Amino acid sequence: MWKQRIQVIQGDITRQEVEAIVNAANESLLGGGGVDGAIHRAAGPELLAECRTLGGCPTGEAKITQGYGLLAQWVIHTVGPVWQGGQHHEEALLASCYRNSLALALTHSIRTIAFPAISAGVYGFPLERATPIALKVVQAFLNEQSEIEQVRFVCFSDRVYATYQSVLEAM
Ligand code: ADP
Repeated sequence: MWKQRIQVIQGDITRQEVEAIVNAANESLLGGGGVDGAIHRAAGPELLAECRTLGGCPTGEAKITQGYGLLAQWVIHTVGPVWQGGQHHEEALLASCYRNSLALALTHSIRTIAFPAISAGVYGFPLERATPIALKVVQAFLNEQSEIEQVRFVCFSDRVYATYQSVLEAM
């Protein structure tokens, strides 16, 4: 059952003991605020050095680096859409972030992966719309293959945690 392979926790993604953590990066991949800043601080300067070699990342796509100072061996950097009112393919682009991150995990034989709430911070994607997208893409992906054993959603705030819990419960 796909639900048994999903975990919703409240916490800090930089502290997760999983094979890969996902970064909600920006197109430059050269660091930013929010979860991106926290991941770069925890991983150390080698992460930025590797990111500089990648030439950025278009919105909706994903790229992978090592984790350096993190407990996670890998960081999958994906670029969520900036919310512009909902008529600019924001929902499809957000779904692509989750799908492409999982596909990249699969090609690297990653079995455990943690996601933050991509685009739901500074990028302004309404949490009530972002959460079902995240959970449905992961549900579909888990149902399609059995290599990925665990997907953990790491919720930074009470509100994000409560939203993920209630959306997951209703599925
Ligand atoms: P975006 O620019 O994609 O909106 P943000 O980093 O601004 O990215 O926010 C995305 C989500 O990540 C928000 O819910 C924010 O509260 C959360 N977040 C911030 N720091 C962390 C962290 N250390 N671990 C997990 N989630 C975090």
